[in-house]
Amino acid sequence: MSLDLVYLDHAATTPMRPEAVRAMLPFLTEVFANPSGSHRFARQARQSIDEARDVVAEIIGCKPGEIVFTGCGTESDNTAITGVIRRSPGVAVCSAAEHHAVLHCVEHSGGTVVGVDANGTIDLEALQLVLGPKVSSVSVMAVNNETGAISDLVAVSKMVRRYAPNAVLHTDAVQAPCWLDLRTLWPLVDTMALSAHKFGGPKGVGILVVREGKYFEPLVLGGGQERDRRSGTHNVGGIVAAAEALRITDAERPHEVVRISALRDQLFAGLLAIEGARRTIPSESSVPGVVHVCLQGIESESLLYLLDEAMICASAASACASGAMEPSHVLAAMGLTPDLTTGALRLSLGHTTTESDVDRAIVAITEAVSRIRTVQDRGRQAG
Ligand code: PLP
Repeated sequence: MSLDLVYLDHAATTPMRPEAVRAMLPFLTEVFANPSGSHRFARQARQSIDEARDVVAEIIGCKPGEIVFTGCGTESDNTAITGVIRRSPGVAVCSAAEHHAVLHCVEHSGGTVVGVDANGTIDLEALQLVLGPKVSSVSVMAVNNETGAISDLVAVSKMVRRYAPNAVLHTDAVQAPCWLDLRTLWPLVDTMALSAHKFGGPKGVGILVVREGKYFEPLVLGGGQERDRRSGTHNVGGIVAAAEALRITDAERPHEVVRISALRDQLFAGLLAIEGARRTIPSESSVPGVVHVCLQGIESESLLYLLDEAMICASAASACASGAMEPSHVLAAMGLTPDLTTGALRLSLGHTTTESDVDRAIVAITEAVSRIRTVQDRGRQAG
């Protein structure tokens, strides 16, 4: 990364851990065999996948056989929802603040979207009202990708087991591994989606954890890899690197949570000194890695343009393929009015974030807001 760049978009993707890159390299060069083959070279590749599976299973607290390697977090979510309702037809339910990888599956199936509270986590009373014997899938994300809000999965799990005992409870935990111990989440749910590029692994490697005895229709059919649950030649190096990244993330989490919480507080203090800046949700409800504010009277698009000029990488809402700014469905579901949501700013911190990044971001954002307001004032005076 350029020395000048301040990268505060770790929730979109975080740089690969150097150890994960090193673990991946041999599979891009000499260890190139297809792990589905029968010769010794293929068996060597297959063994590397098995070892990676063991590492991932240990960190999640699940059985190795419960891990399904996929192509991304989106595929893991799609499989957990669409694959489950194809196998056990019924109603799919999710919260209104889910990532589109979940929301679009539930909407596409004609399912039910449940509202959220002011912190952006599922409204438990509203959830209870829609649960029942016809519900076959319930999805509630562990950590929201825009605001960093942490869901109360203990309460959700209790409620789903009681009022929709036949439902498969899924959590999109794509934003969780850097901040939450996955061993505490896994016992609460039946399926869980992860994505390697959010915790220092490569892009294009997803993980779906599926509790033994829970079934889904595979979405990708073919050679029967992953015990017929996800066909397609394995991305061996990607899987090995994902396991290494998850191992380091898990080992460093206690220290990183403390370090990043301090940087988060420092960043909030700087941003809240800007007139019209509002914290979107309280820090206690969020993971340390996400700083989300709404800047009244400011358009995110102009702000991000100026920040980009100042070499600060930030985001307004979750990134989408076109790069276009769409109003955030998460903030709208939380009941935030357009005068606030148009000025949404998400700064997300991660393993490479330093105090100097935070200092530079505060200066750049303060200056950019001031420049936008000066232009607005001039416009008003002229008009
Ligand atoms: N779920 C959440 C919460 C995410 O933040 C993302 C990525 O932004 C995804 C799912 C999709 O993951 P992937 O980029 O691996 O498809």
